[in-house]
Amino acid sequence: MNTPASRWPAPTLSARDGALWLEELPLAEIAARFGTPTYVYSRAALAAAFAAWQDALAGRRALVCYAVKANSNLGILSVFARLGAGFDIVSGGELARVLAAGGRADKVVFSGVGKTRAEMRQALLAGIRCFNVESAAELEHLDAVAGELGVRAPVSLRVNPDVDPKTHPYISTGLKGNKFGVAFADAPAIYRRAAALPNLHITGVACHIGSQLLDRAPIAEAAQKLRDLVEHLAADGMALEHIDLGGGLGIRYRDETPPPVAEYLAPLLEVFAGRAEELCFEPGRSLVGNAGLLLTRIEYLKPGETKNFAIVDAAMNDLARPALYDAWHEVVEVAARTHAPSTYDVVGPICESGDFLARERSLAVAEGDLLAILSAGAYGMTMASNYNTRPRAAEILVDGASAHVVRERETVEELFARERTPG
Ligand SMILES: *Cc1c(COP(=O)(O)O)cnc(C)c1O
Repeated sequence: MNTPASRWPAPTLSARDGALWLEELPLAEIAARFGTPTYVYSRAALAAAFAAWQDALAGRRALVCYAVKANSNLGILSVFARLGAGFDIVSGGELARVLAAGGRADKVVFSGVGKTRAEMRQALLAGIRCFNVESAAELEHLDAVAGELGVRAPVSLRVNPDVDPKTHPYISTGLKGNKFGVAFADAPAIYRRAAALPNLHITGVACHIGSQLLDRAPIAEAAQKLRDLVEHLAADGMALEHIDLGGGLGIRYRDETPPPVAEYLAPLLEVFAGRAEELCFEPGRSLVGNAGLLLTRIEYLKPGETKNFAIVDAAMNDLARPALYDAWHEVVEVAARTHAPSTYDVVGPICESGDFLARERSLAVAEGDLLAILSAGAYGMTMASNYNTRPRAAEILVDGASAHVVRERETVEELFARERTPG
């Protein structure tokens, strides 16, 4: 093993006689039973991550809405539903998943800049908690759809507090010039418009400034802006029921030091101390990221003049983050080290130079060995594709010594089952 267990980001991962285990199961056994590539999640790690949020919010009226897009597997959603979580969704499809997994509609908040009328109808009929509306035009659509159904739509306005989250530009969402939310300065006028529409019921305000936040100052700054807005609206006769501070808390992939949940939340709780509104949060990555890994097998070792490649059976279609964001994931050998280490780029079989999972890693491996790509629980499987007609991976939820198949491996026939030749 290159790294002592204490340094691994996944809390439920351990090395036993040099072999890697997740909870009470050896990863080699999971690979033997279910094949590779396979996503493997720890139920205990999911529960621990959720408990950290619940504990940090104890004594405060608050709701933790898991951001479904981070990992939307029904098995994962059902774990969070049983723990009492709410859900942050961004599509009608995600709403259907939440309900199928036993989640409660009245704990669902619906984010996203492009909600269709059909999605609004679906969510209104289900009775969701709130629409996080992202534009003035969306208000008009929502009012019309609610009117057709004879209901009033609960509305929060997602405002753009224009703070720099100091994260990757692709995952920063709260700056001016960003497609998300409404400009902070426009918010009071848009609230007034919402209040005038007959089929809307103003319930809150929301923001989400970005993802993989490692610094708590930007969200604290956003919170102060939101509090000022809430006070301004109250003076204008619009009392809000909840304040949604979004998601975004970062995790450790390599050597990042994100604040623990309680530290991250402390300044926010301070900003809203003594206020009656319910506080909502929409964490995704921080609940699932380090609860999952991608298990893959080395097909070939290919030594080269300037680089050595470990060609594995997982690829960018399974885990897009390295190719998409140049993201760094820890890669560890699943079996005890018996070979001499060499430096490898860990790549997949896809016909793209961007198809890499990790670069320049010291690994002690042979052909046929298993690797675990850590911190893959968030934005892993949900961003997977079928590029190169590759069936998507299986997903396994480990619970103690049990392994539950929460998604069977796709078959090739399923991939083209809806296609037709023109005859
Ligand atoms: C993506 C997203 C989240 C979750 O972000 P994480 O960084 O995974 O915590 C929460 N809220 C909204 C509106 C989002 O778009």
